[in-house]
Amino acid sequence: MGDERVAVITGAAHGIGRRTAEVLAEEGYVVAAIDLTAVDTVAFPFVGDVSDERDVTRFAAAVEARYGRVDVLVNNAGIASIAPAEATTATQWRRVLDVNLTGPFLLCQAFGRGMLAGRAGSIVNIASVAGLLGVADRVAYNASKHGLIGLTRTLAAEWGGRGVRVNAVCPGWVKTEMDVESQSSGAYVDGDITDQVPMARFAQPDDIARAVAFLADPTKSGFINGTALSVDGGWAADGSWQSLRLETRHR
Ligand code: NAD
Repeated sequence: MGDERVAVITGAAHGIGRRTAEVLAEEGYVVAAIDLTAVDTVAFPFVGDVSDERDVTRFAAAVEARYGRVDVLVNNAGIASIAPAEATTATQWRRVLDVNLTGPFLLCQAFGRGMLAGRAGSIVNIASVAGLLGVADRVAYNASKHGLIGLTRTLAAEWGGRGVRVNAVCPGWVKTEMDVESQSSGAYVDGDITDQVPMARFAQPDDIARAVAFLADPTKSGFINGTALSVDGGWAADGSWQSLRLETRHR
């Protein structure tokens, strides 16, 4: 087993995952990534689908063969789905749940076994403010993110005693291709989001990446296990009505 600390991340070709891979590399981790498309910025790229058990098994075996250890797993890959609940098809529902919830479960199993054997490791699941609150027209996405927080808490309870910490990060709306795609469908505009957020801005991928790096590092977050850390500028904490929230900005 080498001395290098190894971080595995899913969905690192774009957006939050890409920035998180960069930050983890800056912090000294060797980074391995699985994505549907090739990731040109990490030490060990692997093309595959996180919802496909065979791809996950082959990826885990390849990382094990190359490095012999994994210190950090970041389950970041995810897909959005915007449709009224009554119009969401079973096929759409299954695909979102497969990628956003079954994928992380498969990755946690595949890499968690080695972490448990070594009695050390940190898993960070990228959930969402939509894992804490209901947001209309996102029934499959929201159910997947609520489920991901449930997976996080359960693994934290089950694996914490064997040295493996499992936490979630809950981003608010982030400026990534996912947001561009969602806005292009006419679902919302920037102001709808910034009016909702006490800190009056979108998250940047770097905001999320720094929180992931904190939860990954046992010297910084060694007793944090099972938490769902909001990185949302206060969105999920704010029960103010809209006019009150906007008025507080001009005092
Ligand atoms: P993005 O669409 O910009 O990037 C997602 C990445 O995941 C892409 O590289 C894509 O190729 C990859 N991916 C998608 N399906 C995959 C699969 N089946 N197997 C492997 N890789 C796959 O998305 P993002 O905005 O960076 O989002 C990253 C995570 O953050 C997602 O889990 C998303 O739900 C969550 N999130 C995003 C926002 C936001 O506003 N953008 C807010 C809260 C949470």
